[in-house]
Amino acid sequence: MYKANDSRYGAMRYVRCGKSGLKLPAVSLGLWHNFGGEVSYERSKEMLLGAFDLGITHFDLANNYGPPPGSAEETFGRVLSESLRPYRDEMIISTKAGFYMWPGPYGEWGSKKNLLASLDQSLARMKLEYVDIFYHHRPDPDTPVEESMEALATAIRQGKALYAGISNYNAEDTQKALDALKQLGVSLLIHQPCYNMFNRWPEGGLYDVLEKNGVGAIPFSPLAQGLLTDRYLDGIPADSRASSATGFLKPDAVTPEKVEKARKLNEIAQSRGQTLAQMAIAWLHRIPVTASVIIGASKYAQISDCAKAVDNLCFTADELSQIDSILG
Ligand code: NDP
Repeated sequence: MYKANDSRYGAMRYVRCGKSGLKLPAVSLGLWHNFGGEVSYERSKEMLLGAFDLGITHFDLANNYGPPPGSAEETFGRVLSESLRPYRDEMIISTKAGFYMWPGPYGEWGSKKNLLASLDQSLARMKLEYVDIFYHHRPDPDTPVEESMEALATAIRQGKALYAGISNYNAEDTQKALDALKQLGVSLLIHQPCYNMFNRWPEGGLYDVLEKNGVGAIPFSPLAQGLLTDRYLDGIPADSRASSATGFLKPDAVTPEKVEKARKLNEIAQSRGQTLAQMAIAWLHRIPVTASVIIGASKYAQISDCAKAVDNLCFTADELSQIDSILG
């Protein structure tokens, strides 16, 4: 029988999410890759329990994570039932709907029909009564944002979600979503954008909107799917995401330019006494709206490495300008 590590809250840092009452661990764990039905259940379980023992209280899912779609939620539900159920009140569990999940006109995008049916399916797969955060996964150009936000508000009113989140919305659409939720008396807790050293789009307006409205940010793919680690410094390892048939990182994305930048960034990380993964995570926390970052992992050692990023989150002005000049 699993018993959580008594010292799990000793090393992790917890950051207030926007102007809400909710604190998130500076490092959260996402289940996009490596938790589906086609990988070892034992390894997935080891990573989830190991993360919780490190003080990682937040686990990020979506309806479609797998493969096959839905299986990451099933894996998570099984670990919860077998081991983590007694700790449910110490956990923040999120899921999302919006990407393709089932055939026909209601299986994706942003209708109220899609979002609420999908949430019910997610709760059943995870064997949960509620999730802590329910996200609209991507904006829908054909559904009024008011309807998608009405779905999030309904989930909260029904007690199936505690907080509302959006993901992949640009600055303008985020403001529209905020306005729609406000009309419904609901606060937007959090925005989940892709943000890392190689992809800085949220700096161009999104973060201003979040800061102005007291919304927290939780960047996904903070390590650029592994490119901002030491993983690819000496070629593409056989057990890496870029080598996997189902991985979203394709080998041709591992370009000599990116590897060269990673090599130079790695030297700065070493001078700070950090791994490159730790520095890439710390760098995202330099922005005040960052509540957490969602890492992925294929093994427990990566999670414990990333969790230690919190030991040094500060940068000198000189380090930041060196990083900027490497990134170009
Ligand atoms: P990362 O950028 O953190 O990439 C994770 C990969 O980096 C791992 O699988 C591993 O690669 C490598 N890695 C992690 N830690 C280390 C380490 N310490 N040392 C060396 N290599 C390391 O994140 P993901 O792209 O996996 O995304 C994280 C989460 O974000 C997802 O699980 C999901 O929850 C969320 N997400 C949300 C999206 C959205 O649209 N809202 C879209 C995408 C992700 P390897 O597997 O090769 O070992």
